[in-house]
Amino acid sequence: MDSYVTDRVDAWAQTDWWRRAVRCPRCAAPLREIDARPFCSNATCEYAGSGFPVVEDQPVLIDFATSVFDRGMYRGGNGSIFHRDVSRRSISSRLHQLTFGGNQVAQSNCARFIELLKQESERPVVLVIGGGAVGDGADELYTDDSLELIGTDVYASPYTLLVADAHRLPFEDGVFDGVWVQAVLEHVLEPTAVVSEIHRVLRRRGLVYAETPFMQQVHERGYDFSRFTRSGHRWLFRQFSEIRAGRVGGAGVALVWSIRYFARALGAGDKLSRLVALPFFWIRLLDPLTRGRAGSDAASGFFFLGRRAERPIDPHVMPQYYDAQK
Ligand SMILES: [Zn+2]
Repeated sequence: MDSYVTDRVDAWAQTDWWRRAVRCPRCAAPLREIDARPFCSNATCEYAGSGFPVVEDQPVLIDFATSVFDRGMYRGGNGSIFHRDVSRRSISSRLHQLTFGGNQVAQSNCARFIELLKQESERPVVLVIGGGAVGDGADELYTDDSLELIGTDVYASPYTLLVADAHRLPFEDGVFDGVWVQAVLEHVLEPTAVVSEIHRVLRRRGLVYAETPFMQQVHERGYDFSRFTRSGHRWLFRQFSEIRAGRVGGAGVALVWSIRYFARALGAGDKLSRLVALPFFWIRLLDPLTRGRAGSDAASGFFFLGRRAERPIDPHVMPQYYDAQK
């Protein structure tokens, strides 16, 4: 499956449609020499002179003046601050899978997301934000032959076509049919700004799918900034109409995370704390029994599948939104 996916990503990389859609993240002007060393075509823009870095043959279209990421991080390697297991095959990744389970919620939502995209377009174009690794349960995005996908992340990987900071997406308005943003919004400085950008690059009636943690401890160290309740997540996507929303990982998953992080806080370290939590994996098997408001009050995270709307929801509906959840 892996070589099939990377072959598809290589084929997408060769196509021209995304080259036409990219814009300067500072001034939104078209770019020159996207395949060599990209420059902004606007002579008054800073990036007309300095241009953008390239890592592993992928352009780094970040406005460094407003980003948490520095130009210096992209002088060599893939631009990642951490060692990353993008293929999810390391012992740590496998232990994580065993303790916390796979993401069946994402798998079912991914199928629905694709089905809805196909109702509106024969060849839907999807932007993946945080696509350095294939998201848990998101395989179908990479294997469905009818999709065109553009993977982006803050580092280059075999699954990305370019490097971007989601606070300023380097694309023209309304070019995507769908945006997939899974386990990303906790890692951005300003989630509201990122969701506004998602709204901007989506065409009218375009779809968004997001998964964001609620009761999860800090991961990715200094690059972890926010958590959302079910209501907070809905309000974050206030410029979208809701198709489906709910829990990703219930109170059981949250409790097993807590056991792991309790051991870690006592000094167990990353690897040992994974082993300490492993015997408690069965707690998450009780999650299907958790329900309603009490279930969401203690959930590990939430998903939101929505459609781009022309105006935001009314703040007055929010208390009822909480009361109505199942
Ligand atoms: Zn520019």
